[in-house]
Amino acid sequence: MLLRSPFGQISGIRRTMSLLMTLLPALSFGAPVEAATIRDMQITENAITLAFDGMIEKASTFALVGPQRIAIDINGATPGTSGSSGGLVSASRLGQFNAQTARIVLDLARPAIVSAANYGKDGRTLTLNLKPVDQVRFASAAQAGRTSFLPPLAFRAAATSVSNNRNAVNVPLPKTSPYRKPALPKTFGPNDLSLPLVVIDAGHGGHDPGAISVLDSRQEKNATLAIARAVRDALVRSGQVRVALTRDSDTFLPLPERVDIARRMKANLFISIHADSAASPQARGASIYTLSDVASDKEAARLAAAENKADVISGVDLGRQSSDVQSILIDLAQRETMNMSSAFAMVLRRETASTVPYRTDFHQFANFRVLKAPDVPSVLMETGYLSNEDDARQLFSSDGQQRIGRGIASAIQAHFARRIALASR
Ligand code: ZN
Repeated sequence: MLLRSPFGQISGIRRTMSLLMTLLPALSFGAPVEAATIRDMQITENAITLAFDGMIEKASTFALVGPQRIAIDINGATPGTSGSSGGLVSASRLGQFNAQTARIVLDLARPAIVSAANYGKDGRTLTLNLKPVDQVRFASAAQAGRTSFLPPLAFRAAATSVSNNRNAVNVPLPKTSPYRKPALPKTFGPNDLSLPLVVIDAGHGGHDPGAISVLDSRQEKNATLAIARAVRDALVRSGQVRVALTRDSDTFLPLPERVDIARRMKANLFISIHADSAASPQARGASIYTLSDVASDKEAARLAAAENKADVISGVDLGRQSSDVQSILIDLAQRETMNMSSAFAMVLRRETASTVPYRTDFHQFANFRVLKAPDVPSVLMETGYLSNEDDARQLFSSDGQQRIGRGIASAIQAHFARRIALASR
């Protein structure tokens, strides 16, 4: 039986889900504080190129049989991009393996080995060449174990270590040490845990400016933060909802971390604020994105399945649940969440229509990373086009930001009021 709490969490299967989810590392990223982020992964016919935003410690690869895969460990890095495919790679996924290490797993379309590895001149890219081989050669590569590739010395991050006394003797972090997740943001509003919690995510930040305004080159990251703060302030004034911001300053946050904050806080709703840009200066208006159909998005199910076959990503055995059962549970929760996300998209449009011009096809579906929490209803709002003068003027004016913020806040209140009404019928 599915017991539904009024605010949209799915209590009946939630306990099982939360167990599953803590065991699905790619859905619950934590990150070492000073690690580089894997910002991009390009896969061509026979090579894979990774780009980092800082120095890494080292990379290593090894082959796995049944099914044939190649795992790439990046020490001193945290995942910040999603998997892709191409050439010899039929699918790929990234996860945080432990406090120091990001792991990429490549599913191979046919047996292949890493034949060469080259770092870019500044140590911030790594290209691995893949070479097709026969089954026998692949099996012996899997037997051979791990091969390590060190970045050029001048661009190598020091090994992650902790200082345990004042003499600054560095000891390696024990392998079994649980990695520390970043601290959760402050919650605003009444100190009443029975009230619903919404997490507002200001898009971009830090070295990621987002889109650039056609008017005066102002940056999307500043507009999204101002609007997120306006939403928060309006909600705090209402006193009916608790609210937290994924970022409240000009800082960079990897996408998985934004989702992870909402999930760890057990948010009842997640809203990511953005502004669009298009080649045509005429394009204008807001749009709202929700996750496209789970039937076409089997990422979570695939992860669970991979997890069950071999402890490729987390080193954790999922236990007695069959991979079919895991997939069904995840699928169920995700459908429920998607329905709620779509319902909120309609309320959001209705409550903001008087202040924000919308595109006629305002409700869009996409597989954005920030929409992928299986248990938190999530929408991404493109508040307008920074490539359009009228939209840009509104999105960078304090008055415009306040009006949009108030609109979003009243949509949030209407959404939760409706959930409470439905639950008490
Ligand atoms: Zn954006």
